[in-house]
Amino acid sequence: MNNSRFPENFMLPEAGFLDCIRRMMFMKKIKLFAAAVLFLCVFMGASEDSFAGSFRYPLDEDGELVIVIDPGHGGKNLGADYNGFLEKEMNMTVANAMYEELAKYDGITVYMTHTSVDADMSIQERADFAASVNADFLFCLHFNMSPDNKLFGSEVWVSAFGDQNREGYRFGCVQMETMKEMGLFLRGVKTRFNDKGSDYYGILRFCEEYGIPAALIEHCHIDHDTDVGFCDSEEDLIAFGVADATSVAKYFGLRSESLGVDYSGYDGMPAVNAGEVYVQADTTDPDICMIEEAYLDLERQIVGITVTAQDYDSPMLYYSYSYDGGVTYTPYLAWPETDIMAGFSPDTFTFEIQVPDNISPAIVVRAVNQYDRYRESNLLTGFPVFVSTPEEIFSPEPDIFDDVSGQDVSDGSPAAGFKRPEQKETPERDTSFFAFLKLCLFAATLLFIALLITNLLTAKKRRQKRKPPRRR
Ligand SMILES: [Zn+2]
Repeated sequence: MNNSRFPENFMLPEAGFLDCIRRMMFMKKIKLFAAAVLFLCVFMGASEDSFAGSFRYPLDEDGELVIVIDPGHGGKNLGADYNGFLEKEMNMTVANAMYEELAKYDGITVYMTHTSVDADMSIQERADFAASVNADFLFCLHFNMSPDNKLFGSEVWVSAFGDQNREGYRFGCVQMETMKEMGLFLRGVKTRFNDKGSDYYGILRFCEEYGIPAALIEHCHIDHDTDVGFCDSEEDLIAFGVADATSVAKYFGLRSESLGVDYSGYDGMPAVNAGEVYVQADTTDPDICMIEEAYLDLERQIVGITVTAQDYDSPMLYYSYSYDGGVTYTPYLAWPETDIMAGFSPDTFTFEIQVPDNISPAIVVRAVNQYDRYRESNLLTGFPVFVSTPEEIFSPEPDIFDDVSGQDVSDGSPAAGFKRPEQKETPERDTSFFAFLKLCLFAATLLFIALLITNLLTAKKRRQKRKPPRRR
């Protein structure tokens, strides 16, 4: 039954060698990275002032703070349209709530690019509007959906360039923290290029041309069960608007007498330096994804799989697996213990696959990075066929041997999760013809070995008689 496991094992040395080389390359990069971090630390220590955490994007010369809220889509451009959700309407509800909340803060002027869901406004016109009112920041509000409805979580898109990159990143950090407090899964702060090497999102591109920092907020995915509960009522959308406004207030260190809050001392943002790029797009698939069997539990029909994945550019965010050799995959699952804002995900972890009846699983795993790019693992095969009551397969008369098999299972179960229980599956009192044949074969083998040993021993004795052992 398990013969197919052997060819799989023969493949391993080759895979191990390649992995070794990949790891060596990875170690080199780690060393380089460590050196860079060390250099940065020393440099930071030497010029502490320029890295102060209280760095603020310079406001207008008149000191007036102008915020522009851009509700995504509108008019004929509906945005995401899914299962009764219409994005342009959702964005407007959030924008109105954000506007009302922001208006409660002192020393701030807030505009909206448009206030009707029927307004057809081009992206260029929105950026032009922001420039015309001397905006200090534009916040573009959206909801997301993905092909095959597989993604979930909240993210912020920013320009890839200059001050707009840095300030987008700083605001994005605050916004991600706010979304985390609401209970959302975080997809982080990201940038994306078009094929001309400019910012992919028009609103970020045009604002960058005007020198206006901008952030495109994708609150969550309206087409995924994990997120729907966060956006399926008006109260939810208003909560997003209030949360967005609070992030803005924290970012600019605002205070509000009517709300009784003061964020002027807010220090939840990362320290930054002018002229540096903080968010960079990952345009390549994860570099490594390998799996191996951690344990097999036939009784519970579970296979433990250890997955190892690495990406030099961005952390792992999701994984997905197949037990039919890659024909169908599970929905995306959160990569455990990823800290997206720290840019960290564990290289390896173990998870369990519940295998359905009458299947010998052929397992493949996809490791998905922060930019939704994935790498597929090696294929694991050669597992036994999983059945809900293993006793019935191996014992021909389950009624008679019920007690025995019960005992057998209870004996085996504590170790069953960690050991291959193949030898245990054949009950001792199996009286079938097949078992009898096996017994005969075993006896014959024993007899043959005994004969062979005797023959060898006698041959040796004969040789010793003929040739006396050599002496030094
Ligand atoms: Zn949208």
